[in-house]
Amino acid sequence: MAQSIRKVGVVGAGQMGNGIAHVCALAGFPVLLNDTSPARIKEALATINGNMTRQVSKNIITEDQRKAALKNIGAAEKFEAFADCDLVIETATEKEEVKRKILAELCPVLRPEAILATNTSSISITRLAASTDRPEKFIGIHFMNPVPLMELVELIRGIATADGTFEASKEFVKKLGKTIAVAEDFPAFIVNRILLPMINEAIYTLYEGVGNVEGIDTAMRLGAHHPMGPLELADFIGLDTCLSVMQVLHEGLADSKYRPCPLLVKYVEAGWLGRKAQRGFYDYRGEKPVPTR
Ligand code: NAD
Repeated sequence: MAQSIRKVGVVGAGQMGNGIAHVCALAGFPVLLNDTSPARIKEALATINGNMTRQVSKNIITEDQRKAALKNIGAAEKFEAFADCDLVIETATEKEEVKRKILAELCPVLRPEAILATNTSSISITRLAASTDRPEKFIGIHFMNPVPLMELVELIRGIATADGTFEASKEFVKKLGKTIAVAEDFPAFIVNRILLPMINEAIYTLYEGVGNVEGIDTAMRLGAHHPMGPLELADFIGLDTCLSVMQVLHEGLADSKYRPCPLLVKYVEAGWLGRKAQRGFYDYRGEKPVPTR
């Protein structure tokens, strides 16, 4: 029988961390949420409350479910709070050095049998696993954004991931009501290997003046029936995350077709990271998003 996961820890309370805590809590798992400061954790808890309230108003969950789920979520200001977790999911900023530092500080406080997962969009699971004390208990559990809405989770085994870790993770994801796609541990896995080069190409299309922001997004929404245009989607994902994924593809596969568009680099250098920064390919500071180009 697969090792049972009862209590979950989440490191990184950004847009993905709060979504992961949200779905875990609704599925009945006690969950602890960590970030770099108590204020960030508080912000995430407020976001979760707001998102669950919206789900109640849309009759997706009941008020009783919302109340019960909120009781399942707690703040973990220090990693020591994760000492009795069966699974800890790292979902901090998409930078390998940030993740490595977290993993190094996290491992000593975890139970030896605890499973350690990363929600990385692109970084090698095998390489991250090798930096821990438990490569056989390390796995990629890659959620999609927004977590409460998206049906898919990619599961990625590193070279050393044990069958028991994989089976326990599968059981856990199924309990969240998500469908699993198993991906091999190659840069950006399945979804982002296909999606991010498409987004990067949309940014090249903008950079080369083939279309403007509105034209490109309208073209792909109406011409390819994508629910969101690629630039809108890039803002939604976060332009820093998009750039990191392209860099990992470019470096990891050593193919020039993955070179990040210089315009994407420029937006990230400006701090125009998309929705989370209120500005990216669109400006979100007013009532309606306004294209920035
Ligand atoms: P985000 O910028 O919204 O959140 C990252 C959070 O990590 C921030 O709150 C930051 O304060 C926190 N953080 C940074 N260093 C930390 C540390 N040392 N300890 C604790 N917390 C720390 O980013 P996000 O979109 O939530 O992405 C997080 C992870 O999820 C990344 O690995 C990303 O690739 C992955 N991911 C993102 C998406 C997406 O669409 N945005 C989808 C799937 C996976």
